[in-house]
Amino acid sequence: MTVVVVGAGPVGVTAALLLARRGVDVLVLDRHAAVYPQPRAVHLDDESLRVLQAAGVADAFAAVSHPMAGLRLLDGAHRTLAEFRRGPGVHGWPQASMFTQPDLEALLRAALGREPRARLRGGVEVLHVEQPDGAVRVVVRDRATGVSEEVVADAVLGCDGANSTVRRLIGARMRDLGPAERWLVVDLVSDEPLDVWPGVHQVCDPVRPATFMPVAGSRYRAEFRLADGETPADLDLPALLAGFGAAGAAVVRSAEYRYAAAVADRWRAGRVLLCGDAAHLTPPFIGQGLGLGLRDAHQLTWKLAAVLAGADDALLDTHQAERAPHARALIRLAVLLGRLMTGGGRRAAAVRRLVLGGVRRLPGVSGFALASRTPPLRPGRLVRRPRVAPGSPVGALVPQSTVTVDGVHARLDDVLGNGWAVLTAGGPLPVLPDAADARVLRVGDGPGELSSAELARWLRGRSVLVRPDRIVAACR
Ligand SMILES: Cc1cc2nc3c(=O)[nH]c(=O)nc-3n(C[C@H](O)[C@H](O)[C@H](O)COP(=O)(O)OP(=O)(O)OC[C@H]3O[C@@H](n4cnc5c(N)ncnc54)[C@H](O)[C@@H]3O)c2cc1C
Repeated sequence: MTVVVVGAGPVGVTAALLLARRGVDVLVLDRHAAVYPQPRAVHLDDESLRVLQAAGVADAFAAVSHPMAGLRLLDGAHRTLAEFRRGPGVHGWPQASMFTQPDLEALLRAALGREPRARLRGGVEVLHVEQPDGAVRVVVRDRATGVSEEVVADAVLGCDGANSTVRRLIGARMRDLGPAERWLVVDLVSDEPLDVWPGVHQVCDPVRPATFMPVAGSRYRAEFRLADGETPADLDLPALLAGFGAAGAAVVRSAEYRYAAAVADRWRAGRVLLCGDAAHLTPPFIGQGLGLGLRDAHQLTWKLAAVLAGADDALLDTHQAERAPHARALIRLAVLLGRLMTGGGRRAAAVRRLVLGGVRRLPGVSGFALASRTPPLRPGRLVRRPRVAPGSPVGALVPQSTVTVDGVHARLDDVLGNGWAVLTAGGPLPVLPDAADARVLRVGDGPGELSSAELARWLRGRSVLVRPDRIVAACR
């Protein structure tokens, strides 16, 4: 069984690693031979780090990233309006980590190189994807020789980014969730550490919304929204950087980006599926673009591996059913927070202080702002929860504590392994037809049991059914 992954960006390579670790042969195709060198993503949350953990690269990522303090909202004069702290969190990793995307992509590719089941071929452009007879035929052209050939696969993942060819080939269209914005993104290096707060500074000034943050090592990032008709050359960059105490830093790159807010209307055609930026695009305000894509990969690859091993193809219908509403919710949140933080005119800025004071009480915003929690998956075939179930853990990730089993300490996910699992402190067990082979793991202090005071406290005597992607599927 071979899966072709189109696109060797962070989502494609992560998906390939996850499939290979499930015993699936994978061929990753990319039009470029090397990692895209320009920094893009700089922030990942702790839920996303569990995906990297599943792909076997979380410790390598921890070595090239560092925890971030949180988000500070500033007015036009850089006075603090509100602050949302980030710390250790419940997923076993820092709630927010800062890094550079090329560093992450390099370590993902290094891990892929160590996987005997995975192969990466650069310098090839994917032109067509067809499914005439069950198998998927992928037409690729070698960019050096111009020669085209056909690759046959059992499934194809379109992880080919914002301008996805695969998306176009399956007839999907992007549906806008808000207007696009143009921002100037400036990467900086400073030999001397800058005397700045170690978190993200968001300037909530409708005249010149801006973001500033330490990234990793000597790197810093500043972003400035461009007004209609304005070009980067119109900005007084030295003065804007001086406002953040970064006058002494060297500009190593500045580039204009157009941030869209959109979700594809179709994520699957037969055995061809979309993941990552190919399926959704978000403005940067909550740093979730890549995180969404990593979640797609984590939540799709175990289903695809199960289908390739004989499970019903309809399991793949849950990909869009689960991921699209989740992506829409987070993108709408990014649009809403973007508007709250940077929208309106000068009069709006005057009332912003009051509005931001109430941000913590907005439904959907508070969980994210205060605890970096993303919305739970909606009820469905693999998420058994009534529509209204306040406080239910179903649809969200099981927290990851360190557990001790017979004197050996381990992270929960590493103990759960690749399959379904029931975590129980006793009592009736939740069951699901898709999870007939779930391992039952008892939480307690006896022999062979998972000992963790945090986990026992969270379970509160309940039993939970945990999917291979660590989402709680059911609870009793
Ligand atoms: C300035 C900026 C800041 C950002 N900050 C954050 C952040 O802090 N946090 C966050 O989570 N996200 C952030 N993002 C978003 C993040 O960078 C993207 O979500 C992420 O790169 C998407 O990964 P991907 O693998 O889906 O797509 P990509 O990284 O775009 O990779 C797609 C790959 O597909 C290949 N490809 C495309 N078409 C073909 C074809 N026809 N044939 C062969 N190969 C093909 C491309 O060469 C490319 O390698 C930011 C983005 C920008 C621009």
